[in-house]
Amino acid sequence: MIVDKCDGKILKIFLVIVVLVFVGVLVYSQFFASSLHNPSFFPDNLEPSANVKQLDSQIQSTGPENTSETRLAVLHDFDEFIKTKFIDLNSAQDYQEVYMLLKTRIDRAIKEINETSVPPGELKLWYIYNMGIIAKTSNATIGFDLAGTYVYPSLADLGGYVDMLLISHAHGDHFDKNVIMNAEKHGTAIIIPDGKVRVDHSGLTPFLIKDPGGVNMLDAITQLGIDTTGWTAIKPNETITMKGVSVTAFSGEHRSPSESAPVEDIYDTPVDWYYVNLSGFGLLHTGDGFLFDNIPDFSVMRVDVYFIHYTDGLTCEMFYKMVPNASMMIPLHLHELGHGRYIFDYGMFNNALDQFDHGYLTLNFVQPKPTLMRYIPMMWGESLELGNPTQ
Ligand SMILES: [Zn+2]
Repeated sequence: MIVDKCDGKILKIFLVIVVLVFVGVLVYSQFFASSLHNPSFFPDNLEPSANVKQLDSQIQSTGPENTSETRLAVLHDFDEFIKTKFIDLNSAQDYQEVYMLLKTRIDRAIKEINETSVPPGELKLWYIYNMGIIAKTSNATIGFDLAGTYVYPSLADLGGYVDMLLISHAHGDHFDKNVIMNAEKHGTAIIIPDGKVRVDHSGLTPFLIKDPGGVNMLDAITQLGIDTTGWTAIKPNETITMKGVSVTAFSGEHRSPSESAPVEDIYDTPVDWYYVNLSGFGLLHTGDGFLFDNIPDFSVMRVDVYFIHYTDGLTCEMFYKMVPNASMMIPLHLHELGHGRYIFDYGMFNNALDQFDHGYLTLNFVQPKPTLMRYIPMMWGESLELGNPTQ
């Protein structure tokens, strides 16, 4: 009888272990390996529907700097398309059309990025997905927050197209293991914020939470099973130069002024704003960083393009006031499908266009109206060219 009891206990322990391993694998696969061996829901030879082709050609017929009524109509059509065609990411039929639009747009962008050689003194940038940007000059090609393989797996290829990959923080919509693995294969420099964190497994996916008593960021990422050999973790206010590109990190907080989440929130993770000098062009990318303990003095910097996380007019105004000297603002973090249909309420052009006035940023409580800052909403895969830095 004692033996039986003992066996029962062992069985129980064994079952608990099985369940734990199963949950562990599930959690791991959700966040970091979601599409590693990517079982895409969709066959490679799937053809875009008439709707997808039509919207894609509408987008192709205008450009980001176009300020006509036609352009505005296309931006609204893009919103409408997402609203009517996107249910969730759980099954193929719930986002097939949206997948095909992203695929069509990104496949073209990948081809362009590969084939484009940018003359000295110029910069070309592509908007990819969420806050993902690729900027290319005659010297180097860099990527910010390239992520989204959970919607379109081949987006991972972009990791191999950049000399440097800047990651604002370790959340899945900015930090994408599939992109990173391609980047590592191609010897891309990978940049991440430094800071003390602990790995929190209490939620569905592991989170790296700020913790003064924790471990260094690179060690925490290693704990999650990702090889960080050769990565660079930048400390707040530190500037590094690699491959001829200089990068300065500013440490922000992952919460917007309108949120009242406590500091001990699971989303409280080190987030960098990156200021990059690429061949004389100044690029400033906020990631999901909003607040600062001490606002850095951006007025001394040349900011050609200011990539912001758009949430609403007030936050936009806060961003404007921190960097009024920026030449151009690009509102990002729109149409991020991993956040679910909740984005329909805020993360759409329909909202971001409240601050749009003939290609310039306009704010409720700021004069002049519009401001002198250009404001350029971009759709997936679109590109923009800048010329002649006077550094
Ligand atoms: Zn985000």
